[in-house]
Amino acid sequence: MRPKREIHVTRPWLPPKENFLRYVDEIYASRQLTNRGPLHDELERKLGERLETEKPLLTANATLGLILALHALDISEGEVITTPFSYAATVNAVLWERCLPVFADIRADNLTLDPDKVEQAITRRTRAILPVHVYGIPCAMEPIQYLADKHGLKVIYDAAHAFGVKLGGKSLLANGDVSVCSLHATKLFNTAEGGLILVRDPQTRHRLELLRRFGHHYDDYQEPGINAKFSEPHAALGLACLDHLGEIIASRRELTAWYDQRLIGLLQRPSWPADLEYNYAYYPVLFKDEEQLLRVFQALADIGVYPRRYFFPSLNTLPYLNGAAACPVSERSARLAACLPLFPGLLEEEIEEICRVIKERL
Ligand SMILES: *Cc1c(COP(=O)(O)O)cnc(C)c1O
Repeated sequence: MRPKREIHVTRPWLPPKENFLRYVDEIYASRQLTNRGPLHDELERKLGERLETEKPLLTANATLGLILALHALDISEGEVITTPFSYAATVNAVLWERCLPVFADIRADNLTLDPDKVEQAITRRTRAILPVHVYGIPCAMEPIQYLADKHGLKVIYDAAHAFGVKLGGKSLLANGDVSVCSLHATKLFNTAEGGLILVRDPQTRHRLELLRRFGHHYDDYQEPGINAKFSEPHAALGLACLDHLGEIIASRRELTAWYDQRLIGLLQRPSWPADLEYNYAYYPVLFKDEEQLLRVFQALADIGVYPRRYFFPSLNTLPYLNGAAACPVSERSARLAACLPLFPGLLEEEIEEICRVIKERL
C-alpha cells in the first residue's frame, strides 16, 4: 500500500505555532532583531544548561562556525587532517580558510576517523585534526587527543549531528579545543539556520565571540571579523523548539525501535558504544552493495519514499579536490550508506510499508 504522502529522509520540526508566536511577541516588544538580543542570550544560556556544557556561542550556521574555529585557532594555511565521510561543509570550511585538507580513512565499523590513519597522515605541516561525530556516533576521542597532544595539534570537532548525545554522562560537544554543532532545519534541534560553538579556553572564546560580529566591540576594532551573527527570529524558533526537545528525542527513539524490530539482522548498521546516550538523529544503514542500494531506492521512489545517500560521494573524490589520497574504506562505505526517513510525525504504518518494500528488494 502506497503511503498517502511523499516521505523524505527528514522533515524540519516546527513547534506549535502559538509557542513560536509567544517569543515573536517578545521581539515586537524589544524591537531588537539581531546583535545579541535578549532571546539570543536566553537561548545561549538555556542551551548551556540543557546540554550541561559551558555556555555555547550561537552563529549563523555551523559552516561559519567551523571557519571561525579554524581562524581563531590560527590554523590558516596549514594542513588539516579530516574525514572523507562527511558532508561537504566539513572540507569546504578547511578550503575556505586556505588550509590544505588531508584525508585520513575511516573505520569500517562506525564510519568515524581511524586514529591509526590519522597518525600516518601527520606531517611537519599538520596544524589540526577535524573529525566528525558522523550521525552522532562518537569519534575515537582519546586516541585523537593523544595524537594531538603528542604533535602539538588543535582538535576541532564537527559535531553537527551530535546535539544532545552523551558518552559517559558527558556531552559529546564538550570535547576538543572547539566543537561545532549545526542547528540547520534538517538537524535534530533546529532554528531554521544556525550553529553552536563550544569552546573552553577563555581567550579563544573571546576571540570567537568578536570574530562572529566583525571583530570589534563598539569603537574598539581588534581584527577583521566576519558577520556570523544569529538573529532574534532564529532565537525565537530555537527557544520554542527547545521547550519540546524531550518529545522530539523520545519520538525519534520510538521510530528507531520500529525500524529495528523490522530490519534487525537484515541490514548492517554502524556500531556505537552500548553506554551511548544517543539522540536518534539518523537511521543509517549499510547495504550489501551499491546495486542493492539502488534497487531499494528505486522501489521506494516508486511509492513516493525518498531516503538519502548520506554521505555520498566520499569527499576525497570531490571534483575540486583533484589529487586527494585514496580512502578505500570511506569510498566503499559511501557507496553503501543511506539514511532512512526519520522524523517526528512519521507513522508506524509508514515505517511498516517502507520496511516491507526494503525487505522485498534485498
Ligand atoms: C549539516 C552539516 C554541516 C553544516 O551545517 P550548517 O549549519 O548547515 O552550516 C556541517 N557538517 C556536517 C557533518 C553536517 O551534516
